Order: sequence, then structure tokens, then C-alpha cells
Amino acid sequence: MNSAWLIHAPQGYGKWPLLQRAAAALLCESPQSPAAAAAEASRLPSALTAYRACGRCASCALLAAGTHPDFLVAAPEALWPELGLNLAEESSARPDAKTAASQDIRIEQIRRLNDWAVSTSHRGRAKVALVYPLDALNPAAANALLKTLEEPPEDVQFLLGAHRIDAVLPTLRSRCRLVALPRPSTVEAQGQLAQIGAARAKEAVLAWSQGAVYQSNPAAGLEWAEGLIDALAQQPSREVSSSVLPPPPDQKVGVATLLKIGSDLQRVLAGGAPLYLPQKAQALAALAGRTSLLRLAKALRSWTTRQRLAGFPLNQALASDALLLEFAQLFSRGD
Ligand SMILES: [Zn+2]
Repeated sequence: MNSAWLIHAPQGYGKWPLLQRAAAALLCESPQSPAAAAAEASRLPSALTAYRACGRCASCALLAAGTHPDFLVAAPEALWPELGLNLAEESSARPDAKTAASQDIRIEQIRRLNDWAVSTSHRGRAKVALVYPLDALNPAAANALLKTLEEPPEDVQFLLGAHRIDAVLPTLRSRCRLVALPRPSTVEAQGQLAQIGAARAKEAVLAWSQGAVYQSNPAAGLEWAEGLIDALAQQPSREVSSSVLPPPPDQKVGVATLLKIGSDLQRVLAGGAPLYLPQKAQALAALAGRTSLLRLAKALRSWTTRQRLAGFPLNQALASDALLLEFAQLFSRGD
């Protein structure tokens, strides 16, 4: 029996809220079948979206309180606040409260999940395990999860999410029903932006996030990107200085933002229109004329490497300076 769903999509497409809703509906004691199946129904198999949790039964109450015994989440500790998970309840599982929150799903979490999976259901119904994101499973933890998925206990439904399907162990993948969550429609994306109260003009945020509106801040980096482009456009190409450029909000956002600007510049140089910053088309065209595809490719490679390192502690100020310098040099003459 195939008891595991694996939903995969780029970050920000809404995997987490979807997995949470599916889990709640599976656990609910009187699940509702909404007449107007919401937008995601068209994006997904009906098995995951046909029912909604009632929000009133004992099971729904336990889930809301974070104390449902038949529900278990394995997610990196560093993500708990963002995912709205209760830290206090789980902190006893941490070996040393003083160590930094883990970016990985630890093997201990999967061992705990495996023990929980073979235990009897407390409420005599299905049990649901949610593992998110699989990208954060190290090899040992992935193998431990695989053992359980190879012989899944009958009453356990596994709901898994991954940002990159090719990062998931193939043996693990083969045990799951795969669902590629498509990019949210413009209507859905607009709805989500309205719900989180995006302060900026919606059109600009829609373009900037390219549908990845379920991240905590879909507009992250947008304002900095615009400021950066404006500041550069005002400088003569003979001597571009990075010191007049506004510093990035933080290293991670900074790198992600430069990658977006860089790929827009590539598009413009190739004769296309900018994807992320259509409102800056004119300034981007002027900047594109001051650099080349070759220099851009080199910079994009460097930023991609930095992106992989952005999770590690480093001197923020130094890293920001280096980032701005690399960006400014793209547009200076005689580099
Ligand atoms: Zn319910």
C-alpha cells in the first residue's frame, strides 16, 4: 500500500499550508466536503483536497493546541518559528538547548517518528506524519525514514514536502506518490498577498516573487533591488563605487536579490524583457549596456556559490561589502 504523498515545488508555492490542511482533514472527526473546492483543488489530486477539517471536533482542537497525539511533525528546528510550530513542546527533544537551532532534520527526529509510527493510534483513527522539507534530511536521517516507508504501518499516512525533487533519495522517492505542486495562479497569488498585507504595489511583488507568494516575505529584497539599480544608474561608468550603494538587508536576501537582478540583466542582454523587475526595464537596459553576458555569467556563478554558503555564520558586514563590490564591478569599465 502506498501511504506516502510527496508534494514538491519551489519554495514559496504553498506546500506547507497545503500539507497542514491535508493533515488536519485526515485527522478530523467530521471532515467537510466544501461545495466550492478552493483554488488548490484544481492544482492537486482530490485525495488531498476533497475534504476540509471541521475546526470544531476534538481532533481539530487537539491539533490547534499542538497536542494531537496522532500527529507528528519532523522539520528543522531553525524553521519552527516560520512554520508556526510550538518550540516549547519540542525543546525537550533537543540535546542541548544552547546549541544553535538545526538547519537539518536530525536523525533523532526520524527515530522518534519511527517509534511513534508503530505505536497504537490514540484516537483510534488515522495517524499523520508530516516531514518537511525532505531537502533538509541528511543521508542518515533519509535512510532511517526509508526503513519506515518501506514497510509503512497500516494506519499511518505520511505527508512529505520537498523543494527540489532531485535532492530526494531516489529509493525514498519511489515509495511515494509524487505530486508536483504548480505555481499558484495570479488570482491565488493576489489573494495570498492581500492576506499577508503586502505593503507594496501588488503587481511589482507578483513579478518579483514569480508566484512564490507563500514565503514569509515575498517582497524581500525588492526595495533594495530598486534602490541599487537607481543608485548605479546615477553613477558614471568610468568609476563605479560600491560605497554609495545601499547595503543589503541581510546576506541571504542580498544574494537572492542579486541573482534575480543578474538573471534579468541576462534576459535584457539576450533581447528579452525583465521578469522580476519589469518596472525597471529602462534602467536595466541602460545597465545591461555597460556589462556583458560573459561578466554576468561569472558574477552569477559567484553569487550561486555564496547562496550555498549563506546559511553559515560569517561576518555580515564583510560579506555585504564583497557582494556590493562584485555587483558594482559588473558595470565599471576596463574590468
Ligand atoms: Zn474536525
